[in-house]
Amino acid sequence: VLEASPKVRARTDLRCLRCGRHYDESAAIYLCPSCTVGDDPSDAGVLDVQYDYDLARRQLADQAGELRLERNDVFRYLPLLPVDAPAPVLPAGGTPLVEAPRLVGSTNLEALFLKDETRNPSRALKDRATAIAVTRALEQGHNDLVCASAGNAAISLAAFCAHAGLRAHAVVPHDASEVRMQWLRALGADLIRSEFDYDGAYQQAEEARDEGWYSRNCAFNPFLVEGKKTCGLEIAQQLNWRVPDLIVCPVGDACTLASIGKAFRELREMGLTGRLPRLIGVQAAGVQPLVARYLGRDPAAVKNGSQGTTRAASINVGHPRNARRLLNELETCDGELLAVTDDQMAVAQLELARSAGVVAELTSAAGLAGLRMLAQRESLAGARVVAVVTGGRLDQPIGEEVTP
Ligand SMILES: *Cc1c(COP(=O)(O)O)cnc(C)c1O
Ligand SMILES: [Zn+2]
Repeated sequence: VLEASPKVRARTDLRCLRCGRHYDESAAIYLCPSCTVGDDPSDAGVLDVQYDYDLARRQLADQAGELRLERNDVFRYLPLLPVDAPAPVLPAGGTPLVEAPRLVGSTNLEALFLKDETRNPSRALKDRATAIAVTRALEQGHNDLVCASAGNAAISLAAFCAHAGLRAHAVVPHDASEVRMQWLRALGADLIRSEFDYDGAYQQAEEARDEGWYSRNCAFNPFLVEGKKTCGLEIAQQLNWRVPDLIVCPVGDACTLASIGKAFRELREMGLTGRLPRLIGVQAAGVQPLVARYLGRDPAAVKNGSQGTTRAASINVGHPRNARRLLNELETCDGELLAVTDDQMAVAQLELARSAGVVAELTSAAGLAGLRMLAQRESLAGARVVAVVTGGRLDQPIGEEVTP
């Protein structure tokens, strides 16, 4: 009775996060046609993949009710993914959750775990989304993929395309680091150097979809956050379905943390867990459009971006394109957004290295820096915390990341 045919898809349709309209997946809709992009790039009518969770639960479980363990990558959770079958792509996900007792130190946390996403094929969590992008591109017969990226997304795409024999086109902002560009060249990507910052590059990459190139822009292509979601599913499974109290994570476009929130909602929906973790998003003090909106200081802050800058390249995003997705998740779980300075990130980066043996990029140390800040504001006594170490690409010697 528990055996559902794997040919029956648990995913049902797409729902607009802004207006709530539903769309059939086969209609090849990308953003909601009823919500115009023009007026606010940070609330452009992003679509969300919907599932039949009873069916997904049955497909995930074997007859003993245990999750199937035959795979260790993102495709382990196939019924909760928008692809028909695993493709022979580089193995994304299956990263370790490492308890780091020396980082607990004198705080009174019960436990601190690091979700070590530096252990993905291209050393960043981005690979989880790329695995889905490349699988869908192969399913639909595309040979070319495109993304806008200051580094990690493009390098991830280039690596997966190199492996699969596809063409990666990367629109890189004018301020991308030389080290990242060298890696893009080494991986055989077609480099399109934008004269603009990340926000401008994003728009250029969106327009390149007209060439028939499949988009790996995670915020707007509704299927890609489903890949990032597997990070949250893994965290829950690795903790034996004991939901952590807090999850701290750096926030740029906001896809990553929002997708982790979705994962925990789905697990609760399927009866695998009983509650939600509080999500704590961390932005850079110099570029914190979501924090400003969250604190109500400036309701237009997300729209207008921030005027400052940050050395944390992977979260230097003035117009977070999945803002609504994350703000919805934060409301559901009573989460929070914080901003930390580049110096606080640099301290946390060294702490991760010296007390946990993890080499994180500056951006990825924002999670721990945010946790330190939160601990000064409120008691975290007895809390079980997961810090997502999102990537490990170094542009400069550790602790010395500088603006190119
Ligand atoms: C992209 C990225 C982030 C931020 O993810 P968003 O989905 O843009 O919020 C954080 N850390 C690293 C290392 C990244 O590459
Ligand atoms: Zn809409």
